[in-house]
Amino acid sequence: MAIGEFALIEKYFTDIGHSPSVNLSVGDDCALLTPPPGQQLAISVDTLVADVHFPARGDPALIAQKALRCNLSDLAAMGATPLAFTLALTLPSADENWLAEFSSGLRACAKEFDIALIGGDTTRGPQYIVTIQVIGLIPNGFALLRSGAKSGDAIFVTGTLGDARAALDYLTLPEPQLNAQQRFFLQRYYTPTPRLKLAQALRDIASAAIDVSDGLSADLGHILERSAVGAQIDIEKLPLSSALRHSVDARRFALHGGDDYELCFTANNNRTDDIVRLAQQHATPIARIGEIIAGSGLCARTANGDVIPITAASYTHF
Ligand code: ADP
Ligand code: MG
Repeated sequence: MAIGEFALIEKYFTDIGHSPSVNLSVGDDCALLTPPPGQQLAISVDTLVADVHFPARGDPALIAQKALRCNLSDLAAMGATPLAFTLALTLPSADENWLAEFSSGLRACAKEFDIALIGGDTTRGPQYIVTIQVIGLIPNGFALLRSGAKSGDAIFVTGTLGDARAALDYLTLPEPQLNAQQRFFLQRYYTPTPRLKLAQALRDIASAAIDVSDGLSADLGHILERSAVGAQIDIEKLPLSSALRHSVDARRFALHGGDDYELCFTANNNRTDDIVRLAQQHATPIARIGEIIAGSGLCARTANGDVIPITAASYTHF
């Protein structure tokens, strides 16, 4: 017999993560939280729709990981510490194999990043839709905003760019047919690393920050608009993985590809030493890719020294 709604919630979505700030979790009409004094709540929500954001037949544990990690990346982009999340789940059926795997992926991810599942909603619908809302904590006034970049600031990116975009070509290939490079791209696509600890350390160093979800050209573009400045980057300085480096698409993917969930941030040049130290401390590569300039818009210096304007060519839903 198919499992009922409440039994399903009880079996798969209770007791995932804990926090001293959570007074009441899954099971009542609302969850209750008491944030520590002197801290602001950072709140964000993201939806993943089957066959738009992940293949409907994808591994349920990886779909759960991706959904939570994308949201955690938004907390990272503000310099927040994860506290709690809610989960609104639409399912075509109560398939217990799917639910068990989804739940175990979610539990593992919640444990890794120390965040508690405090509630949600479960409905039937024509396809899988996973909506996660995250709640984080930031000391009052220390959030990293998009609006603080100043002319002369350096622009930095963590990790490598373009790998998740490269994975889009292999999403539906059967696992045994994948080579090592394709596996790496898929791992980057399904389990991006939200740069939480590093971003928390950047709270009083970075002048602006964003996570790269839609592609560097689009997301750096948001910083430029919000900060009313322009930027010049060096195409040759975009950080590329060894798997992507030799692809003819490498630079295009790094510039415009989404889903990497790396951090793009700006900082005054006198903070360069701090940033080098943080990269070492957090074992996270940080590349200096260019600088903020007066004016507006993004341009890029190519290998032969030409400077060309870049328009965002990333995915938009409408
Ligand atoms: P209500 O009718 O009051 O909205 P629900 O029947 O939707 O309550 O949910 C019952 C309880 O289970 C609530 O505490 C809700 O937060 C929780 N819940 C429902 N679905 C999920 C889910 N997918 N993950 C976590 N908690 C859930
Ligand atoms: Mg409900």
